[in-house]
Amino acid sequence: MTQASVPQSQRFPSYSRGIWAHVPDELWNDAQWQLRHGIRTMKELGEYLELTDSERAGIQFATHSRLALLITPYFFTLIDKDDSECPIRKQVIPRVDEAFQDPQEMEDPCGEDKDMVVPGLVHRYPDRALMLVTNRCASYCRHCTRSRGVSGIGPKRLTLDLPAALDYLRRTPQIRDVLLSGGDPLLLSDQKLNSILTELRKIPHIEILRIGSRVPIFLPQRITPNLCCMLRTHAPLLISIHTNHPRELTQESRLALARLADAGIPLGNQSVLLKGINDSLSIQRELVHKLLMCRVKPYYLYQCDLIKGSSHFRTSIQTGLDIIAGLRGFTSGYAVPQYVLDGPGGGGKIPLNPPYIVEQTAQQTTLTNYQGKQFIYPEPRERSIQERNALMSSLQEATSTHP
Ligand SMILES: *Cc1c(COP(=O)(O)O)cnc(C)c1O
Repeated sequence: MTQASVPQSQRFPSYSRGIWAHVPDELWNDAQWQLRHGIRTMKELGEYLELTDSERAGIQFATHSRLALLITPYFFTLIDKDDSECPIRKQVIPRVDEAFQDPQEMEDPCGEDKDMVVPGLVHRYPDRALMLVTNRCASYCRHCTRSRGVSGIGPKRLTLDLPAALDYLRRTPQIRDVLLSGGDPLLLSDQKLNSILTELRKIPHIEILRIGSRVPIFLPQRITPNLCCMLRTHAPLLISIHTNHPRELTQESRLALARLADAGIPLGNQSVLLKGINDSLSIQRELVHKLLMCRVKPYYLYQCDLIKGSSHFRTSIQTGLDIIAGLRGFTSGYAVPQYVLDGPGGGGKIPLNPPYIVEQTAQQTTLTNYQGKQFIYPEPRERSIQERNALMSSLQEATSTHP
């Protein structure tokens, strides 16, 4: 059966709760219960599935010095326990490869620390700022670009000086867009998040607010009607979620995303291109189609940053270009994310596009379409004043002789 012929309900499955089958619905659907029962140790994880030697070594290394282990019971149920190559498993269970140190890899691959204007506030682009409001997430992605400070295990402390950040934003009128990230801002209580958003909304030059969150994927139970009600009072507020594989879009996540969309919140998705997880056209196509069905616009597809211990996740740039070339023109334009690379060491996001421009001269541009057919677009011709005047008088002459 092709994907398109599968009924919608089956495309967004609800996975079996396995060892949590006895847990009553009201607990399972409670975000606090999910967080309290998060899987944090090798011992716990080993009771729930058979760990490989590589995973044991990876957990040992990572949880002592790199990035904590944490998986919500809900997200754990998405793992195919019989498949050591499961794309869900590889995103949240460390492998020995995390201990490899490539000389080009960096603690701070996007150079955020040097654009930090006060602790927790990154001001890199002219009109927008990034505020790191917490260092906690509902589960930890092994490809985390801020593993240096997220979870509290790595070498750096990521803390926010909120009064200083607000003060900086108040006296920097060119900032019209503030992004809350972390860690995951949706792990803050409704009250705490509301107070930060309220303070930001009092600043007249801030036009839009954004939240980056993987909570709708790791902990969809957190997206309650109360939270959505609070968020909608801060409109225009946009949310970027982080999904990498179509299997992550379950019935539960779809409900969480529907609640956010129904609250009038524009939704985008940021994916990371990950080797052996989502580095194929068919997986990306299925992912972007499912995202649109959840009213989420695929926003960015990131080339994996040069994070310490990420060599097993990184693909070639050509892999990403081929995926974009396979989507553009072949499916809805809305489904095609912008592929970007965050400049190693700093510099910000750089768009990566397949070469649709074949040749550019002063006279014309030669282009290729999605099917590889070539087209020529001539440059507009500059007309001289004499040429325009001559045309005008000849037209006037023509109208005066034929009234
Ligand atoms: C990604 C990013 C932004 C937002 O970039 P957009 O392209 O507007 O989504 C802002 N500040 C920093 C430091 C970023 O890394």
